[in-house]
Amino acid sequence: MTTLHPISAPVGTDDALAWLNDEAVALRELGLHRDPVVRRPEATTVNLASNDYLGLSTHSAVMTGAQAAVEAWGTGSTGSRLVTGTTVAHIDLEDDLADFLGFPAALAFSSGYLANVGAITALAGRGDLIVSDTGTHASLIDGCRLSRARVVVVERGDHAAVRNALRERTEERALVVTDSVYSIDGEPAPIAELYAAARDHRAALLVDEAHALGVRGPGGRGLVAELGLSGAPDLVVTTVLSKSLGAQGGVVLGPPVLRSHLIDRARTFIFDTGLNPAAVGAAHAALGLLRADPSLPQRLRDNAHRLAAAVGAPAPAAAVISKIVGEPQPAVAAAADCREHGVFVGCFRPPSVPAGTSRLRLTVRADLDIATVDHVADIINASLRRVGVR
Ligand code: PMP
Repeated sequence: MTTLHPISAPVGTDDALAWLNDEAVALRELGLHRDPVVRRPEATTVNLASNDYLGLSTHSAVMTGAQAAVEAWGTGSTGSRLVTGTTVAHIDLEDDLADFLGFPAALAFSSGYLANVGAITALAGRGDLIVSDTGTHASLIDGCRLSRARVVVVERGDHAAVRNALRERTEERALVVTDSVYSIDGEPAPIAELYAAARDHRAALLVDEAHALGVRGPGGRGLVAELGLSGAPDLVVTTVLSKSLGAQGGVVLGPPVLRSHLIDRARTFIFDTGLNPAAVGAAHAALGLLRADPSLPQRLRDNAHRLAAAVGAPAPAAAVISKIVGEPQPAVAAAADCREHGVFVGCFRPPSVPAGTSRLRLTVRADLDIATVDHVADIINASLRRVGVR
């Protein structure tokens, strides 16, 4: 793992972009600058930073699904979904996902990000209220901002505050948005309480199941299914094809009238090139594997519990393990040390997480055997000791 551009060359001080130099220096001084990690084919690293929770992105059946779709439809979807970018493979995938997750209809977008932005902006606009919380993913936040609705943000988990905001509103229409499993630390949101608050106050609830699909619920059907809410009225679920299903893309699930509304109104659906055929083929093959083997999510959860216990992190509610380090510098140093010793871990620090809670963020996979889980735990513990954390 190396970086392509370790130090960026400053631009001329007379240039209009000169302020970027100051920003770059300030971020570096704080140890907060970011460089994408470049994965290389020859690397023999164990990847504990990916969202490939079930290990399906390299499963032979999933790769064959992608290849078959490329053979049938080519490498690009060739246009927007409304013009040439919808194939029968797209419709088959949408139908199968809707059936698996217990909703009448589904619509696929080319990313989870675009699915969230598209769904929120199509469901709320000027003169409406959105109630969100402090733990939501950036794609939900951006959807709220772009909607032009009035947005009330409550503390994560505070469903009573959501209820109050809905009760006290002057707007007729309201939408509550939340992650089902928070992306930062894998903790679940109070979905049952949020749904009850929404129903009591004639609001819709949009739940992002990105980190719950393939992880929680019966056969990996997610937290909404675990709570018996699949297909419930006024419930909109979004999820991604880019995590447990090992592909790429996003999906919105709900009643058929929601699907047709999004086709008419969601700008990220209308003006974006349709989901790539390779992603459609891969996601559909992965969905087949998940259907055929309901023990996959359990294997993932077992591995997550084993690794969390071994590194002294709290028992995880999903696939995400947070090993809190505290200050950003030792967290960054520990992550780099892990990488040097063949384990690729995530590192979250401000502004992604509150000050003082910089952490190693670990995600295990269902396809790791117990010996590998124990081995990577030893490496992580040794790295933490070397940087003086434990
Ligand atoms: N929602 C959540 C909760 C996420 O964590 C992510 C991505 N990490 C997304 C949406 C965006 O999905 P995608 O990467 O498919 O655009």
